[in-house]
Amino acid sequence: AAMKHLPYFCRGEVVKGFGRGSKELGIPTANFSEQVVESFPSDMSTGIYYGWACVGNGDVHKMVLSIGWNPFYKNIKKSVEAHIIHTFKEDFYGEILSIVITGYIRPEKNFDSLEALISAIQEDIEEAKRQLDLPDQRKFKEDNFFHLPECKIVNNH
Ligand code: ADP
Ligand code: MG
Repeated sequence: AAMKHLPYFCRGEVVKGFGRGSKELGIPTANFSEQVVESFPSDMSTGIYYGWACVGNGDVHKMVLSIGWNPFYKNIKKSVEAHIIHTFKEDFYGEILSIVITGYIRPEKNFDSLEALISAIQEDIEEAKRQLDLPDQRKFKEDNFFHLPECKIVNNH
């Protein structure tokens, strides 16, 4: 169920999250709106994925992505958040984030401590970096999806 929809192309505005303090952990996550999240296949597994991401007309970077149960909605709705593996000069709320999800790392987990959570995320980031260097993954970085006008229909290729 995790892999069957991949590669998954998606574009939408970056909205305010629900302040889980991702940035304070050094791992900010750009959140998609509820509307974009609702457009995801309902049988796409929660968990940690990787792929490529681009803010506005900017460069394409590696990313790790979490599809998780959204505590703000008492875990009946999902949230989709991307940590882009790049240091940005400033926040980009309100900008259009384009992503392609190309691989799956692991299911959602609960952690006993903040340290355990942070080190798991660091491992996810290293795993994403390694996978995305492989030729079959690298090709998605060059996908036309990242270079075409926003009116392009997505997931219809
Ligand atoms: P929120 O709860 O509002 O999502 P976060 O602590 O998760 O707050 O921070 C997310 C915001 O940080 C993003 O919306 C974006 O504007 C900014 N940001 C800066 N660098 C990155 C990055 N490398 N990846 C994702 N978001 C980033
Ligand atoms: Mg966030």
